Amino acid sequence: MAELELLPIIKESEHPCFDCAKCCNYVAVEIDEPTTNKEYDYVVWYLLHQGVSVFVDWDNNWYIQFQTRCDKLTENGLCGIYETRPAICRDFDWRECEQHVKEEAPDKWSWTEADVFLTWFERKRPKAFKKFDAYRQKKQRKAEEKELQRVKVKITDLPGPPVEAPPTSPS
Ligand code: SF4
Ligand code: SF4
Repeated sequence: MAELELLPIIKESEHPCFDCAKCCNYVAVEIDEPTTNKEYDYVVWYLLHQGVSVFVDWDNNWYIQFQTRCDKLTENGLCGIYETRPAICRDFDWRECEQHVKEEAPDKWSWTEADVFLTWFERKRPKAFKKFDAYRQKKQRKAEEKELQRVKVKITDLPGPPVEAPPTSPS
């Protein structure tokens, strides 16, 4: 919970942060907007992990988000180190929290699954997606060729059939 600042006119249970603590249950880190095949591949990889999402805010900044509870969040949903909490928690103003500001969707785009991201990618950036798809297919082909080569080497390493001894002539 960012700051359970009690307003004189309302009861604690009526405070917007009461029983919420959503902001103490994730970490979001800004990332570069993907523009290369490798960067798009990273986004897919992030989204294949449980509890990881990617979102784009209304200023077009890209973030990776990890769903993870702060160790200092107490059982009753309060900050266990309120006096010494990090500046980022201190600066977070509940009045600007997306839980209250409902006029617009909190993010421009957000994804929790790789397949959903790929569908967005294909629809919104078709040219880049085409290149990305070709890049992935090329990678797959190369991996298959490498594996085939490895198997071939193994087969040639195998010992040949046993050589039979020549028949002995009757004396
Ligand atoms: S600031 Fe927002 S997310 Fe955090 S506890 Fe309050 S209402 Fe919940
Ligand atoms: S330090 Fe306190 S305010 Fe900051 S995320 Fe943890 S519990 Fe929440």
